[in-house]
Amino acid sequence: MSDLTDLTIAESLSKLKSREISPVELTQAYVQKLNDNHKYNAFVTLTAEKALSDAEEAEKRYANNTNRLLEGIPLGIKDLFCTKGIKTTACSHILDNFIPQYESTVTQNLLDDGALFLGKLNMDEFAMGGSNETSYFGPVVNPWSKNTPLVAGGSSGGSAAAVAAKMCAAATATDTGGSIREPSAFCGVTGIKPTYGRCSRYGIVAFASSLDQAGPICKDVRDCALLLNSMAGYDPKDSTSSKREIPDFSLSLGKDIKGLKVGIPAEYRPDGLNPEIASYWDKAAQILKDCGAEIININLPHTKYALPAYYVIAPAEASSNLARYDGVRYGLRVDGNGLDEQYINTRTEGFGAEVKRRILIGTYVLSAGYYDAYYLKAQKVRRLIKNDFDNAFQKCDIILTPTSPIEPFAIGDTKMLENPINMYLNDVFTVSVNLAGLPAMSLPIGLSQNSLPLGMQLIGRAFDEDTIFKAAYHLERGANFVRM
Ligand code: GLN
Repeated sequence: MSDLTDLTIAESLSKLKSREISPVELTQAYVQKLNDNHKYNAFVTLTAEKALSDAEEAEKRYANNTNRLLEGIPLGIKDLFCTKGIKTTACSHILDNFIPQYESTVTQNLLDDGALFLGKLNMDEFAMGGSNETSYFGPVVNPWSKNTPLVAGGSSGGSAAAVAAKMCAAATATDTGGSIREPSAFCGVTGIKPTYGRCSRYGIVAFASSLDQAGPICKDVRDCALLLNSMAGYDPKDSTSSKREIPDFSLSLGKDIKGLKVGIPAEYRPDGLNPEIASYWDKAAQILKDCGAEIININLPHTKYALPAYYVIAPAEASSNLARYDGVRYGLRVDGNGLDEQYINTRTEGFGAEVKRRILIGTYVLSAGYYDAYYLKAQKVRRLIKNDFDNAFQKCDIILTPTSPIEPFAIGDTKMLENPINMYLNDVFTVSVNLAGLPAMSLPIGLSQNSLPLGMQLIGRAFDEDTIFKAAYHLERGANFVRM
């Protein structure tokens, strides 16, 4: 049955402006969906009452024409964003009692534009994972699951599942190595990781600071443009945030792509690539070609080193960022005999297995005897990967690849859980983008034979989200993917 939660944000805003619907009605519809779908385990904290009272305020703003960009739009917030007075856990036991005193810049930007928050969304612990199974609060169930419960992808599994199941109009997410794009692909929704520096990292629980970037997960491309325009912007509180002007991304939608050069990297098509995914990739290229784009074969020769480099750099930065959870200043404290034992007990009990693995790897690759061999080497590889993209973008304007080499798999899949490397391999198409700091979007292209969503990735030049939006608009129309 169709209801208000079927509307995109753009559609909702136009109905709100014409007074056809009210913010309270819209919020109530999402709260209803949310309450009907607790089985997906997408939300870990609910703030529905606050959202409903904020919706009444939004109603007044529409009445006196002081409505802002996202007035009365109910969103979900990944539990990695600090929200003032609202529990923010990073889905870790070590932070499960943490109530921030301040608001992250990204969520503040959304609030300033009139958005409402329905609650905090489940995710992999500290955003470390690709299936949402490392969350202290248990895995998110992919709303597309049939009989067997499937993973929603990670780390932003709650964000993608909540948007797919229409439990919120859109969600915030973060992406360190694919965490916006992979769950978007798995749940049949659209997500963009903007260029590193577009969104402030202030108030986002840090995983790997040189890779972390916030972005939206939405029902469609247009909503991503709207949300990103609100989330992005220079912030003096984040020294890596960019002062570049933020264009109105919506203006790129509908522009023609005649002559746009779309690169297809040979290295992303190894023998044995899932044939269904390969054929959707061809289809996506054909859609863009039919719209006037030119398809160009390109090479990204250092692709095979991206995963090993990422899984050295990300844990190295994580081990340093997570040193702050010592049980002294905030979060969980487990007492012990003296300070050292308190540290040990707190961290032993507070962190899950995957987080501990990353801290161990990170500490190892940064230690005196191994720094040059691993960390420094990985940084050099990172530069080569960036150079690959620079060279490729001499020949093309945008790059098209699949988002993930696989479709959503079963929760508890032993192949993935017994050997973490199998899980890491799923990030093969996404991590290079973070290493190079580039923007990239995942959007649904179609269903697999098992009726599960598959995603395509569009990678742009740094600070050229516009071209991504331009191409994505046409790809979305050509794919004609039917949302849940
Ligand atoms: N799956 C990747 C990892 O586990 C990426 C996670 C992310 O982007 N936050 O590191």
